[in-house]
Amino acid sequence: MKLHTRISIGLVAGAIVGVAANVYAGATGSTIADSVAKLQPFGDAWIRAIMAIVIPLVVASLVVGAASLGDLRTLGRMGGKTVVYYMSTTAIAVTIGLVLSNIIKPGSGISEASKQALLASYGADAQGRIELAREAPGIGQMFLDMIPSNPIKAAADGDMLPLILFTLVFGAAASLLTGERKRVLIGFFDAINHIAMTIILWIMKLAPFAVFALIAAVTARFGSEILKSLLVYALTVVAGLALHAFGTYAIAVKFLARMRPLDFYKRIRAVPLLGFSTSSSNATLPVTIATAEQKLGVSPRVAGFVLPLGATVNMDGTALYQGVAVMFIAQVFGIDLPWTAQLAVVLTATLASVGAAGVPSAGIITLAIVLKQANVPETGIALILGVDRILDMCRTAVNVTGDLSASAFVARSEGELGEPTEEQGEAVTVTQQL
Ligand code: ASP
Repeated sequence: MKLHTRISIGLVAGAIVGVAANVYAGATGSTIADSVAKLQPFGDAWIRAIMAIVIPLVVASLVVGAASLGDLRTLGRMGGKTVVYYMSTTAIAVTIGLVLSNIIKPGSGISEASKQALLASYGADAQGRIELAREAPGIGQMFLDMIPSNPIKAAADGDMLPLILFTLVFGAAASLLTGERKRVLIGFFDAINHIAMTIILWIMKLAPFAVFALIAAVTARFGSEILKSLLVYALTVVAGLALHAFGTYAIAVKFLARMRPLDFYKRIRAVPLLGFSTSSSNATLPVTIATAEQKLGVSPRVAGFVLPLGATVNMDGTALYQGVAVMFIAQVFGIDLPWTAQLAVVLTATLASVGAAGVPSAGIITLAIVLKQANVPETGIALILGVDRILDMCRTAVNVTGDLSASAFVARSEGELGEPTEEQGEAVTVTQQL
């Protein structure tokens, strides 16, 4: 059985167990839901194992990618295309979120009683996130922070953006090496790449069980009461995400990557599945890279460049959700956001999604920044926290799909979209298992 089938089974089985425990506990007052929620550490352990590989993999793939580009102009051109694609699709995503919220008006149906209840139950938790957002650097500081004064510390702290920038400069300098030096250097990092992929292959064997634990724990803890009062909001986010995932990307894949959209979705399906299960673009990255190379035929140097960058800076799902969340909270508080303010939201949500790390719940912290800019009360975060985990899963699935669509586009435009290596009958690879 293919791994993605087994992961899907883990996901569905986990959801059944979690929801059943939740419903049973709700009806009888038993503590079974709490017991199921205790499965979380098993899932977390698995995510930690993947995260251990992410930093070496990002460094190795970026160095190999940049060093083998040949000249700096190619690197600049590819970087330009990637950033423009990422920013444009993110801005489109926020716009979809805003348009849908203007049409559906998810916040107008919330009763005063549910509003007060939500504020009371999640107020304290929301305050914690708001504090975190206050500590977040402003735009100026964010640019300054991109330059690491100590790349090893950036790696140790998991600060991806400064690490990526340093590694790119290192790779660019390495591309100017010649002869034996260059061969040895690229060979070394290429070997690290392969080792990382082999370890991921091992870790992925446990994926179905880990996904079972993660999903069962999330659903067991989930309050269905909350979902009822926030159903329209949650559905607006999900509808927007679906539109973006199957609309925007289908168009981009067809016209920019010149690939059949159905083919694209079929080949990459394990990646959104993992994004959904882990709620983390970073944790999904190793499989994202393997899928781009082996299932889509993206050259390793394009995949190694576009995807680590994407996991960190490209978050269309997150930005779209922020657009809906801002409108929702404004509507609940009876604030009318004029179109000029909404235009500003497109800009701030696009930038905020660059600043958000590819880890669970990162988007809700940067949401506080977007709310502040739009003069919508940040305490409104309390209103949506109850369903945030589920929406985090959905938006992460879109985030990683967006990264893959970019890799196909950049590879096509650089003439580096070849036959998927899987079809060339290469040795055992991660994706053959997927
Ligand atoms: N969990 C998301 C990701 O890793 C970020 C977020 O929206 O919270 O892509």
